Amino acid sequence: MVKGGGGAVGIAIGKAFVLPDPEWDLNDYQIDVSDMAFEFEKLHEGVRISKNELQQIKQEIAEVLGVEESNIFDAHLAILEDPVFMNEVAGIIQRQYKAAEVAVKEVVDKFVNMFDLLDDEYMKERALDIKDVGTRLLKHLLGGHEETKPPEDEPYVIVAKELTPSQLAHLDASKLLGIVTASGGKTSHTAIMARAMGIPFVFGVEGGIQTGDMLIVDGETGDVYVNPDESVNRMYRERRRRLQQHRERLKSLAGVPAVTKDGREVGLSANITSIHELEQALKQGAKGVGLFRTEMLYMDGHTWPKEDEQFAVYREAAQLLQGKPMIIRTLDIGGDKQLDYITLPEEENPVLGYRGIRISIDRRDMFKTQLKAILRASAYGNIKILLPMISSVEEIRKAKEVLELAKRELREAGAPFNDGIPVGIMIEVPAAVAIADMLAQEVQFFSIGTNDLVQYVLAVDRMNERISHLYEPYHPAVLRMLQLTVEAANRHRISVSVCGELAGDPDALPIWLGLGVHELSMSVQSLLGMKKRLIESAESDAKAMLGQLLACRTSAEMKELLHARRPEEPPGAEHADDGEAYGAESS
Ligand code: PEP
Ligand code: MG
Repeated sequence: MVKGGGGAVGIAIGKAFVLPDPEWDLNDYQIDVSDMAFEFEKLHEGVRISKNELQQIKQEIAEVLGVEESNIFDAHLAILEDPVFMNEVAGIIQRQYKAAEVAVKEVVDKFVNMFDLLDDEYMKERALDIKDVGTRLLKHLLGGHEETKPPEDEPYVIVAKELTPSQLAHLDASKLLGIVTASGGKTSHTAIMARAMGIPFVFGVEGGIQTGDMLIVDGETGDVYVNPDESVNRMYRERRRRLQQHRERLKSLAGVPAVTKDGREVGLSANITSIHELEQALKQGAKGVGLFRTEMLYMDGHTWPKEDEQFAVYREAAQLLQGKPMIIRTLDIGGDKQLDYITLPEEENPVLGYRGIRISIDRRDMFKTQLKAILRASAYGNIKILLPMISSVEEIRKAKEVLELAKRELREAGAPFNDGIPVGIMIEVPAAVAIADMLAQEVQFFSIGTNDLVQYVLAVDRMNERISHLYEPYHPAVLRMLQLTVEAANRHRISVSVCGELAGDPDALPIWLGLGVHELSMSVQSLLGMKKRLIESAESDAKAMLGQLLACRTSAEMKELLHARRPEEPPGAEHADDGEAYGAESS
């Protein structure tokens, strides 16, 4: 078994098709001065054809997967329009008398190596974008390059050093069982697309697989079995069958009310980044959107998204929701999330640095643009504004100043909006917990971001693999922080919900019920599994357990208690394995 990282959940069982790296037959000869005009003509023609192709793919993806997913290709178009990139290519042709294809290859390699060297996942993924565009352009400059095509008649698991979004877009989704790559990461565009397409994806697997090998790909654990023996095969086929069955059963829960055995209703909402995810969430019976992470709107383009562009997305979401609530979080970049069109200062400790609300307050125009777009969409639905990374009362007041400015401008322009739009804050920094009673008097609601809260309370970088064993949401310190936050919200009669990953972990349910949190927002894949646990649980049991949980001195004790008190399965129902996966099942 080879171990990689889980990029998109689901189990794929099928034959491997290994995508070879394209080999370019480049003659590094010197061109004649008289040929220079020809080389430039060739270059411009190659760029033109590549751009047309990209526009076409973008349109196809927009039709199949939605506009957000298709925006991935804007990054590729931007590279072909980037003066730095194109000037370097032109310089090599002009000064070194090299053919256009040789110049393009040199510049692509230079940028790819430069970005690859950076210890930054986001930049590494941008290297993949450049390589993807470079390959496309080279194909047109050289002409006649035959790509190795996957089999058309049988399903396969694609295995590649790297798989670019445009390569993925060109594969026949009905034949594609799974994806295994050497490079990439959970936040790569390829992973985002794989999740949207429901195809299991494992990254970080280098070599050792040949075309025709039988593979088992577990997109949740990141395990890949190459030519597994019969017992593993049988185990995974059985697991896949159970997952399929489990998913079917869960589907029937979409319309079932989210109520415990003893009548406590809990709002189960979705965390989304796109309209496509919202559609999925609605199919699964989500109560609304508890967290719209707007970063993707900013990451996919090559410049700040305009007010109208953002407004169109927020309005479409509001209309799809038909009055169901939607909490839109203002931009939360910085830390591991960067935008390639603004240069943020390099920082020793980015997660303790220039991020979230700190950037928004600093760049008021950008912030105001987003707030105006959200406000305008508030005329079309039940929208609330959520501010990330708040650690002081001053930050809320400064943010509200910009909000008032945005409202004034809209009023002057005669644009309709909800003047009483509720404003809430993420509770994800320990300082916010310590002064939660004060913050509660400034806003209408709290949303607890356990992902960051765990990181900051325990001083464990959530991106650092070396200390990932210390990143423990079931830690007594975290539980106390949660309790303090909920108590402060209750005392000041504001609502409190949870939107970090812990909100979608069925084992954490007794904590939420025990503390009296009745709104949970989670990734779309977690919704039905959580509802299943909820309807099998009783609030009274959770309330009785809370005291015991608070008395636990170690994470192990907490987890033992929570596991021991899992509700009994109703007769005939089987659990999928721990950490149930609901991804694409393939045959
Ligand atoms: C969180 O920190 O828990 C959260 C929901 O926000 P993000 O994961 O986007 O930082
Ligand atoms: Mg956060």
